[in-house]
Amino acid sequence: MKDKLYLMIPGPTPVPPRVAAAMSKPIIGHRSGEFAALIGRVTEKLKKVFQTENDVFVLASSGTGGLEAAVANVTNPGDKVLSLNTGKFGERFGELARKYGADVDEVMFTWGTDVDLRVVEEKLKADPNIKAVLATHNETSTAVVNDIKGLGKIVADHQAVLVVDAVSSMGGMDIKTDEWQVDIMVSGSQKAMMLPPGLAFVSVSEKAWKVMEENTASNYYFDLKKARKSLAKNNTPYTSPVSLFYGLEESLDMLLEEGLENVFKRHRLLARATRAAIKGLGLELLPAEEYSSDTVTAVQSPMTVNVDNLRKTLLEKYRVMVAGGQGELKGKIFRIAHMGYASKADVILTIGALEMALNECGYKAELGAGVREAQLVFLEESE
Ligand SMILES: *Cc1c(COP(=O)(O)O)cnc(C)c1O
Repeated sequence: MKDKLYLMIPGPTPVPPRVAAAMSKPIIGHRSGEFAALIGRVTEKLKKVFQTENDVFVLASSGTGGLEAAVANVTNPGDKVLSLNTGKFGERFGELARKYGADVDEVMFTWGTDVDLRVVEEKLKADPNIKAVLATHNETSTAVVNDIKGLGKIVADHQAVLVVDAVSSMGGMDIKTDEWQVDIMVSGSQKAMMLPPGLAFVSVSEKAWKVMEENTASNYYFDLKKARKSLAKNNTPYTSPVSLFYGLEESLDMLLEEGLENVFKRHRLLARATRAAIKGLGLELLPAEEYSSDTVTAVQSPMTVNVDNLRKTLLEKYRVMVAGGQGELKGKIFRIAHMGYASKADVILTIGALEMALNECGYKAELGAGVREAQLVFLEESE
């Protein structure tokens, strides 16, 4: 049964049948009235998920393209940029800004911990010329969630724009783009948004538009000012991936039908059950629970277990795919995603398979000890 796969990695994630079916509809012209109406509807629904009154742009790229659009439109070569590194994705964000010639002050936080807001406050106070602050909401590589609300308060008093990577949390966690004063919020299609890879989403605040209007550096494909002109007519500058737009409307409908509050609650519950299960197996989580992600769980591998071997066993024997560690965490952690089209049964199944694989890889996990903890969390919740 090689075709049955339990995709428990932090992207791409499983696509609901409803979304897959929507994507199989016949292609229509990307300049047709019908497609313009679809862009209009999708934009309004995306704004609800982003919790913003600002426009949200849909770009034909992976999540990184959205991050690149943000950096390319708000920075000129030589501009000061503060980049907050809490993991692999934060590291990439700084790299990206350096590629565009920005003068990047990269602040390192120990991977597995969150951003220390006092450090950011001091940095901004010391340098009024900082043009942008780059932060990661849900650092997928460590399963750490950063306090974007707190960050927004600090950056709002400064000329800098706050750019936030919410690629692996939008659609799974409560993200109040406007209330938290985030200037550019970026997400992508293949994580909690329940779509195949291929789309990035970018919201832009008034403060960010002012910076973009004064920016002299130019880029072609990711020119957001051009995208704004097009969106005013429910259009996009270049050919939109029509099928992905069909899917996007369907996934947004699913999120709004379930109700955003319920979606967030479901993710919180799955995360809680997964963490309880891991602890029940005597394993340790990477981040402290107070800033742990709702969409992905990072587990410290027992010394006796080879992570590659564990992942291989899970995949080959049980067809359950989990992720390893990235960068300096390679070989040290493994990660279980529970985002998007994820349910209680997915968690139970994954933990059950994990218990067997751990035993097969040299760690004496008590069979059922993790599953039981997850079950208890679920039963308690449904009382
Ligand atoms: C997945 C991810 C990205 C990158 O997304 P791509 O779609 O691979 O370009 C960026 N940031 C975070 C936090 C992610 O989880």
